[in-house]
Amino acid sequence: MQVERRLSSRAAGFTESVIREMTRKANAAGAINLAQGFPDFAAPDPLKEAACRAIRDDHNQYAITWGTQRLREGLASKVARYNGMDFDPETEVTVSCGSTEAMIASMLALVDPGDEVVVIEPFYENYGPDTAIAGATPVFVPSGAEFAIDEDALAAAFGSKTRAIVLNTPNNPTGRVYTAGELRAIADLCIDHDAYAFVDEIYEHILYDGHRHLSLGSLPGMEDRTVTIGSFSKTYSVTGWRVGYALADRRLSGAIRKVHDFLTVGAPAPLQEACAAALDLPSAYYDDLAALYDRKRRLLHDGLTRAGLQCELPEGAYYLFCDISGFDTDDLRFADFLVEQVGVAAVPGSSFFAEGGSDRIRFTFSKRDETLVEACRRLERLNEM
Ligand code: PLP
Repeated sequence: MQVERRLSSRAAGFTESVIREMTRKANAAGAINLAQGFPDFAAPDPLKEAACRAIRDDHNQYAITWGTQRLREGLASKVARYNGMDFDPETEVTVSCGSTEAMIASMLALVDPGDEVVVIEPFYENYGPDTAIAGATPVFVPSGAEFAIDEDALAAAFGSKTRAIVLNTPNNPTGRVYTAGELRAIADLCIDHDAYAFVDEIYEHILYDGHRHLSLGSLPGMEDRTVTIGSFSKTYSVTGWRVGYALADRRLSGAIRKVHDFLTVGAPAPLQEACAAALDLPSAYYDDLAALYDRKRRLLHDGLTRAGLQCELPEGAYYLFCDISGFDTDDLRFADFLVEQVGVAAVPGSSFFAEGGSDRIRFTFSKRDETLVEACRRLERLNEM
């Protein structure tokens, strides 16, 4: 007799990741993967050497749960320098398994079932499931024109049940770098409603055209209600290492550390050593990274334009979020067509919205120039179809 096993309502409450599914489809079709945001080029040599050295030197057992002392101290001084925020490495810095774990651990630590969490659309697709796993209800708020914060819509979304807002700047998928004015408006709402802010700043070093990153947690009144989330994945091209962090006031960090401990015990110990070495790279490293992605952003933008795909150049992060309304199709069919018939994988726009987004598709330019040139060559065939 076949027994139908019950699934938890939490797991039943969301679908699998479309972004990661597109990688599997790209692999199956032998297509170029411009779907998932990870580099196809080498990680920096000093990091790889530091990782190998750490393993040889036997940093191979559990690190202290909230991260090695060297990495926490390195993070505290980096954040003081770059983000203008002070955190005590002993009590306020938690190293996690990527920013992915930092976000879910923060929600589980600070949000109760039945609470509402405000999520701005379009959003990185993990935030919906994160909220569902925490047993909370996401309240989705559309962005305004050119993906600016719509202050009226945002104010209307905050209410008596609001426990937190999730923010991502520089933004995936839109490329927006939120301004001081937009961040101040968000901060005021958080203060008025006594809400937390979970701020995903994973693209903080990937900025163009003079845009500057500002941390919401550095604004007055936000110090003890913001969890600033970061990662080594994108800045150092090591998405597979799974090392990120959550920075928050001592009380909040205490709760996040407990959840983190029981979820994962800790992030990979030898890779924490290598990430500490990454923080010693000179400032030229970050300038070169931004210049590298600036070139790639223009390369792909030119190619997409030639293929008839419309998109704005992003202010930060490494995605182009294209308008496909000129094509007689929707995002899901278009993405399947691209991966199967054109040989290029992208992410359907609807995966970044609770509703809508079927007129959008996202491409990443976090790839070697040769990969981007070949993808553009393939995409130009759209003109003949
Ligand atoms: N947050 C955003 C906005 C992302 O785009 C990604 C990956 O694409 C992640 C988090 C995942 O980061 P990590 O590798 O640190 O878990």
